[in-house]
Amino acid sequence: MMVPPAIHLGLEISVLAENEGSSARLAATRVGDYHDAATVLAFAQGVDAITFDHEHVPQSVLRALVDAGVAVHPSPEALFVAQDKLVMRQRLTDLGLPVPDWARLETPADLAAFLADHGGRAVVKTARGGYDGKGVRVVSDPSEVADWFAGLSDPSVDPESTGGALLAEELVEFRRELAQSVARRPSGEIVAWPVVESVQRDGVCAEVIAPAPSSAGRLADMAEDIARTIAAELGVTGVLAVELFETTDDRILINELAMRPHNTGHWSIDGSTTSQFEQHLRAVLDLPLGDTGTFEDWSVMINVLGGPTTGTLADRLPAAMADQPSAKIHDYGKDPRPGRKVGHVTVVGDDLDDVVFRARAAADHFLD
Ligand code: ADP
Repeated sequence: MMVPPAIHLGLEISVLAENEGSSARLAATRVGDYHDAATVLAFAQGVDAITFDHEHVPQSVLRALVDAGVAVHPSPEALFVAQDKLVMRQRLTDLGLPVPDWARLETPADLAAFLADHGGRAVVKTARGGYDGKGVRVVSDPSEVADWFAGLSDPSVDPESTGGALLAEELVEFRRELAQSVARRPSGEIVAWPVVESVQRDGVCAEVIAPAPSSAGRLADMAEDIARTIAAELGVTGVLAVELFETTDDRILINELAMRPHNTGHWSIDGSTTSQFEQHLRAVLDLPLGDTGTFEDWSVMINVLGGPTTGTLADRLPAAMADQPSAKIHDYGKDPRPGRKVGHVTVVGDDLDDVVFRARAAADHFLD
């Protein structure tokens, strides 16, 4: 999704795709393993800057790039905070920012103590490697994460891949989930999009409403302040998305960080003057950042999760287009599989109910 704005801006872009079947294959200039420093170093020869669309590139590979003189955005130091949820919780706590109660767990006894202090229920997360709710469990007894504790003490499991401990968090009572995206360029300029509401199903983002309804004023200001502070204090370069909880007692707590264009910002492709993908390119190249205004009052983005059980999204395209001509449809070209994000639909307009209706109607064509 960074390729179209790169073409429009006349920027040369090269993509290292992880396999032939990945959705970046159309743009791939090279296919290779991002865990392998030699592969990534060879790929980086002659580029002005290198960036990522996920945070799983190992620190050793990032460091090798920096050592070879490649401009890496975001920097390995900043990215580390998004790669490890324990490091993230510690840094945010040190910055005095609002986070759920949390603890580092090395043994089941640590979790038993945390549960005793938090009404008998808690959220346990793996420190590294989780996404889309994998690596997150709500538990009331340490036995429910016995497998994760076993992984920590298993000598055949690389501590690099686990982070060496688990994270416990209070089970936050939230009214809704929000996300605040900003972009920061190396010279320090920061811009913010409006805070959005993200509706999650089974730990996966299903729908996004931009801006979050009833967010103008205090809520929007708090969310933007938090994201700007994190971007500046951690020296983030590129897009930073901050996932937030709006609690039932009107507080904002930070759930997690992503230092890259994020699913909750996909609406900006069709709803904002500058999409998060164009902005990310501008930011990592230290170009002046673009306007983050919206074209219409509301943008609603619906993820196509799983896709049809027969055929492909492309088969359903004519019916969806005919039924909802205002919908902007994005097909990632991935094989449908239960729960997989295979595309999204965005509709913009000035009446929220109508925009939600049209977006859902369009997205429904891609499901059974
Ligand atoms: P991932 O890295 O897999 O996206 P998250 O840490 O964002 O995992 O958690 C996934 C979802 O689980 C969140 O969007 C939220 O719905 C729920 N969740 C996570 N942490 C908490 C918490 N402390 N209290 C309540 N719900 C939570």
